[in-house]
Amino acid sequence: MNNILARIKALRQDINNLNYKYYVLDQSEVSDYEFDKMLEELKQLEKEYPEYDDPNSPSHRVGGQITKNFPTVVHEKRMYSLDNSYSFEDIKDWAERISKSIHDSVEYVCELKYDGLSISILYENGVLKQAITRGDGFQGDDVTPNVRTIRSVPLELSGKYPERFFIRGEIIMPKKSLEKLNIERIKEGLEPYANPRNTASGSLKLQDNTEVAKRGLDCYLYYIITEDMQYSTQWDSLRNAKEMGFKVGNYARLCSGLDEVYKFIEHWNTERHHLPFEIDGIVVKVNSISEQEELGYTAKSPRWSIAYKFKAEKAETQLLSVDYQVGRTGAITPVANLKPVQLAGTTVKRASLHNEDFIANLDLRSNDIVFVEKGGEIIPKIVDVNYDKREPGTVKLEFIKNCPVCGTPLIRKEGEAAHFCPNEENCLPQVVGRLEHFVSRKAMNIDSVGAETVLMLHEKNLVRTIADFYDLRKELLIDLDRMADKSAQNMINGIEKSKEIPFEKVLYALGIRHVGETTAKKLAKRFKSIDKLREADMEDLVNTEDVGEKIALSIKEYFSNQEHLELIERLRKSGLQFESEDTQTVISDILAGKSFLFTGKLTAFTREQAEEMVEQNGGKNASAVSKNLNYLVVGEKPGSKFKKAQQLGTVTILDEYQFLNLIDI
Ligand code: AMP
Ligand code: ZN
Repeated sequence: MNNILARIKALRQDINNLNYKYYVLDQSEVSDYEFDKMLEELKQLEKEYPEYDDPNSPSHRVGGQITKNFPTVVHEKRMYSLDNSYSFEDIKDWAERISKSIHDSVEYVCELKYDGLSISILYENGVLKQAITRGDGFQGDDVTPNVRTIRSVPLELSGKYPERFFIRGEIIMPKKSLEKLNIERIKEGLEPYANPRNTASGSLKLQDNTEVAKRGLDCYLYYIITEDMQYSTQWDSLRNAKEMGFKVGNYARLCSGLDEVYKFIEHWNTERHHLPFEIDGIVVKVNSISEQEELGYTAKSPRWSIAYKFKAEKAETQLLSVDYQVGRTGAITPVANLKPVQLAGTTVKRASLHNEDFIANLDLRSNDIVFVEKGGEIIPKIVDVNYDKREPGTVKLEFIKNCPVCGTPLIRKEGEAAHFCPNEENCLPQVVGRLEHFVSRKAMNIDSVGAETVLMLHEKNLVRTIADFYDLRKELLIDLDRMADKSAQNMINGIEKSKEIPFEKVLYALGIRHVGETTAKKLAKRFKSIDKLREADMEDLVNTEDVGEKIALSIKEYFSNQEHLELIERLRKSGLQFESEDTQTVISDILAGKSFLFTGKLTAFTREQAEEMVEQNGGKNASAVSKNLNYLVVGEKPGSKFKKAQQLGTVTILDEYQFLNLIDI
């Protein structure tokens, strides 16, 4: 190695080390001046010898990179949510369920529930490779350049580490960082940010990572995922993470029984206000990893972990008036205007009143003194009325009878809580709301057409329905709005590109009432085309995962409207995707009616590939060992599933090759 490279490496190591001491251990060893001098020297050398530059050099912590679009990345292992609980009773029930399926003396690890956004960071050979946001749990955004600027996230690891692993944790905005940021904003005449979690989340999505670097984000890690496990408990994994140089904090505690868990919760319930960052609860985890595996997962969350959420903080204030908002589906939401009040660090001025019944149940009257509550990211809500403080002679709040925008009499369907404005065609917030929804990121993702453009296009009568977007011509845009050639072209390109958006998103984009993103996905997967979905009867629909009667009815109603059918025809002619591309090739039905589970390290194929093979051959993948399980496929060093299956005696145990024989490969 030549001298220059050696010097660069030495500087990087020293700087990484100082960063670690300062941002992880809270120790400062050199003056700012000395630190800056080293950094300057490193930057200078990297500039002179660009061949030695490296994205993981600590010199890049200050930013200098612009990311226009964060690529979507599929998580190799899904990022689950946590089940919530609000009382010791809930925790006790959870622990009892665990004792029943494992044994009575389970050890738990209690951790703080950091109130930020979760992140999954990939390390290969001790070097940071990629950082992905949680997204919908299945796929998230690659925000690597931004995460590199977070000083407490190691770029290179020390000690012993698995060759390849993901580490998951929470990116947070410490209270001090938010304060500092807000002082700057106020100086610039900007509105201060209210909520550290949202600000952390917004910061991580900034395009310019020089800005991200200035935001003072921090990152606590709590979960390692790797094929080559070097420890057998959560507790050890935390210790190992610490040794590798991650910020883990010294807050976690190993508990041998529920009493210790309760004590931990009680302690932090009051002590949390003294932490340098916000937490919204405590996470309890089963310590043993083989026991975790044995417990497995529900559709949404691990069975081996539960979150205890702290009670929301309450404040008392006065109801001033009620506004009624009209959504894109015509649903009316009553919103209370409140006398401003401080609550959990923010000023609350408005709160949702949900619907007529909610107002009636509270027996809400004008000028009532009410209690508002706020929990985490949830919009503040009115939870009660202080009836003792009610003035005599106040009148009950009457829900409006007509649409506040278009004046059409409102309707309320049987069995539904919300009122609707039925004037789908001409009620402005509905028409514009549908258009905005259509172009939005999770729908057709036409980002060259923003909310203001939608409004303009609608005003100029160019776009009245979603199908009109596809009739737009560049010349028309330029003429009508004196739009620049380039932005008109961008719009047309964006619209053109949206024709490739897959069916599941198109289905979501149509804006069928009650059909959210996930439901659209499930419907697209099951019915595969808009025609099949249209032809489906109630029973068919209700038999789809996550689809209940309410959603099914709404779908039927949508397709019974002639105008919707015409709209779909127009869109189809424009070239939108109304059929799913069959990604799941069916090979055989040889495994029909059989369920499979895999344990241990597979050598001939990955677990994902194995599960795909099961589905391709008509079988089902199970999530845990039970009497209903037909086959357990056992790889190297199998976990507790193996033992459990042996004990049950009803499960056929196969090795990988026997499994392949089953499907005749
Ligand atoms: P929730 O978003 O309320 O469903 O809670 C689940 C989320 O809590 C996870 O996705 C994590 O982002 C977050 N979380 C914060 N601290 C922890 C922790 N110590 N262990 C596990 N999850 C945590
Ligand atoms: Zn209306």
